[in-house]
Amino acid sequence: MDTLYNNFIAHGAWLTLLKGMGTTVAVTVAALIIGTLLGAVLCALARSRFTVLRGIAKTYIVLVRGTPVLLLLMLFYYVILAPLRTDALYVAFIAFGLNASAHIGELMRTALQGVSSGQVEAARSLGFSRWGAFRLVSFPQAARIARPVYENAIVNLLQWTSVVGYIALSDLTRVVNNMSSRTGQPFLALAAGIAFYLLLAGLVHVIFQFFDRPQTRRQNIAPPAPTDLAPRPEVESIASPNRPSPDSPTIVIDHLSQQFHGQPVLTNVSTTIQRGEVITVIGPSGAGKSTFLRALNWLNPPSSGQVIFLGQDLSDRQTDINLVRRKMGMVFQAFNLFSHLTVLDNCTVGPRRLLKLTPAAARQRAWKNLAAVGLAEKAGAWPDELSGGQQQRVAIARCLCMEPEIILFDEPTSALDPTMIGEVTAVIRQLAQTGLTMVIVTHEMEFARTVASRVFYLDDQTIYEDGPPEQIFANPQKPKTQSFINRVRSFEYDITSRQFDFIEMQNSITNFCVKHGVDEAKTDRILLLTEELVLNVLIPHIEQIDLTVSYSEKDQSYEIDATYGGPEFNPLAAAPESDSPPDLSVLIITGSADVSHRYSDQTNQIRLVVH
Ligand code: ADP
Ligand code: MG
Repeated sequence: MDTLYNNFIAHGAWLTLLKGMGTTVAVTVAALIIGTLLGAVLCALARSRFTVLRGIAKTYIVLVRGTPVLLLLMLFYYVILAPLRTDALYVAFIAFGLNASAHIGELMRTALQGVSSGQVEAARSLGFSRWGAFRLVSFPQAARIARPVYENAIVNLLQWTSVVGYIALSDLTRVVNNMSSRTGQPFLALAAGIAFYLLLAGLVHVIFQFFDRPQTRRQNIAPPAPTDLAPRPEVESIASPNRPSPDSPTIVIDHLSQQFHGQPVLTNVSTTIQRGEVITVIGPSGAGKSTFLRALNWLNPPSSGQVIFLGQDLSDRQTDINLVRRKMGMVFQAFNLFSHLTVLDNCTVGPRRLLKLTPAAARQRAWKNLAAVGLAEKAGAWPDELSGGQQQRVAIARCLCMEPEIILFDEPTSALDPTMIGEVTAVIRQLAQTGLTMVIVTHEMEFARTVASRVFYLDDQTIYEDGPPEQIFANPQKPKTQSFINRVRSFEYDITSRQFDFIEMQNSITNFCVKHGVDEAKTDRILLLTEELVLNVLIPHIEQIDLTVSYSEKDQSYEIDATYGGPEFNPLAAAPESDSPPDLSVLIITGSADVSHRYSDQTNQIRLVVH
């Protein structure tokens, strides 16, 4: 106890220690500020479109990060800044600042890379400028990713400053070092030094903890005004009234062409979209359906041609595309809800920041539209707490909150489990009834046929056939449309043992049916027939069966094929010599389908056809 007192209090050593700590803190903080500012510049350069700027940033980072900070420190002190007789403290600021900038710049770049491009696109499609999207989405999300790494970088920096003693600065380490040799009490001095470093690191941690509380902010969920809650709103209230008026086209597309890397994707596409039209866009994948939609709102400006939206030419330099996009909503396949905002904030952020609504008005509008898509009770939830179908409905509500003139949907149900497709298509159908103009790219043929007032079949780099749904789906005029519409969808399942997973097979068949818009009654019949055929008729005799269910979109008929090897064997045919009554399963099958059996190449094939 006495030695402790003598060493630290009586001789004023604690003051020296505190001073050393002051130097350590000063160097750390200054280096952090310089490093962060310079790091941000490096990060911007590294993300630049220009190769030269990227090259400069990369070279800097490789050189500075690869040089030991002590050598950098001595280089500045003894060589570069020596003629200026700069104060050692400032030299330390510079050397550590440069060193930190390389680490922090890289850290920022990686964090920004971690923000999905879909998030930024969603912000741009609402009408946020590049900078607005950065502030709204990229920065907060990257900051969340970077926070723990940044804390680590600060603690590292704090420890590396312990080498400043080499340029005659009395920092914490150097003071401790002096003391331990002078007092002959190395343990006490070192222990005190370590304690001080731990204290500083602990302080950094506490500060970060304070800022690191993202998931607790839910208090802004005010109860909505009574009029906005139940009962479920009339369809009228879903969107701004948008009465069709035939002589004012919403969009005119004129000789639009798009190429990527010299490869043409769309060539000379011209069409007009009238107010109130609901257009579904179908076609093989890779035909350019997404490209077409993304040209309409300039997310991918076309290589040539014009898009005229409400009389405004989007290719005109005078046109402010951010203003245009406020009136042109976009719903993405991947939902792209802002993951750092609650459902409610996702819906209010556009109206508040872009349309300058008051917070109360924006909230009211959000409640109304969330209620319209059936999700008012999820207003306080975070996007990742919702199912895919719910997220997509929120994305639609977010669009509606901007009260757009038109909404573009790019395969809104393709990322969903089959069981959730219906909830999203139902919301879109409801919107269609309000007269909202929509362009919907989809692979759901039944939906495409029934929701549309007009259908575009995209192929051969253009709108290959354009017509009412009755024409495109029932009576397509051109060869490629015909083969696309009449194509048969099929589903295969290989049974390899008697103990195969029957539940899984039936579930896969159900999903296949849902995906292709087979109605419920037909789906049930397909399930019944496969169950009877496989479980009750075939499996008792045969172990390996290839099952195929094919569905023709043209005449909505389906076929079930069961193929198996071995000698000729048709369990559905009554054995001629048997006089026992036919099996119930066989009766069910022969009673509800056209049955045929073929045998060739040692292979049996049973085919059930149902119209
Ligand atoms: P669809 O939506 O009909 O499936 P897309 O419009 O996504 O088709 O793509 C059409 C073609 O354009 C594809 O061959 C695709 O590879 C190409 N493509 C689309 N976007 C880009 C892009 N940003 N860069 C390069 N090629 C692209
Ligand atoms: Mg696509």
